Amino acid sequence: MRPLIAGNWKMNTLRADGSALVVGLIEQRAGEDPGCDILLCPPFVSLGLIGDIIAESPILLGAQDCHKEESGAYTGGISAPMLSDAGCGFVIVGHSERRAQYNETDFLVSEKARAAHENALVSIVCVGETLVDRDADNTLSVVEEQLLGSVPKGANAKNTVIAYEPVWAIGTGKTPKNIQIREVHDHLRMLLENNFADGNEFRILYGGSMNSANAGEILSIKNVNGGLVGGASLTVKDFWGICTSL
Ligand code: PEP
Repeated sequence: MRPLIAGNWKMNTLRADGSALVVGLIEQRAGEDPGCDILLCPPFVSLGLIGDIIAESPILLGAQDCHKEESGAYTGGISAPMLSDAGCGFVIVGHSERRAQYNETDFLVSEKARAAHENALVSIVCVGETLVDRDADNTLSVVEEQLLGSVPKGANAKNTVIAYEPVWAIGTGKTPKNIQIREVHDHLRMLLENNFADGNEFRILYGGSMNSANAGEILSIKNVNGGLVGGASLTVKDFWGICTSL
């Protein structure tokens, strides 16, 4: 399957930074198809701007979160229909920063993913263990519970992407050993196959301190079908380096 490399800009970039970044990526992409789909997830307020700039390019647009409801009295909320209307095709749900900072539960994440699917968005559902979980040898059971609780009924390989992001690897410069990544991705694949008719076709991304130096090796691991990239998605050189390392 064609890998997906997704950039999660988080709460970074003003309009000028975001435009420069995306213009640089479009230039690179115009000269070469790196053999993967490229997705950018800028902050909400930049979606219109970035969407306009990438409109004629193959680069895809996504958001970093959505509300579970479609509309109503939810001050500050951004709904899935709004994201669709703004030109998004994807939305990240259940990122560990949102789980930790906003107390998002598996059930809420599944509701957000359901809202995404009902509004023609592909959800990128994030799972991953903390260092405490890993040290206690609970990694597989933790990601299993998160996956089964966070992916809604009706999910399929067309409307859902899974991202395995060990919490302790995010923004730390640390990555699991290749064999540890393989173990988790194999487990997630088995769970997807056991629970969804097209479970063998879901893309499972790895995320956590991926950079242009380690991406080639990580992306060649079985059942790693792309990457979710934070810090290294903020410069053209680093992000393009990841896209071209397949
Ligand atoms: C992320 O937050 O999704 C992420 C993978 O971050 P980083 O690449 O900076 O570790």
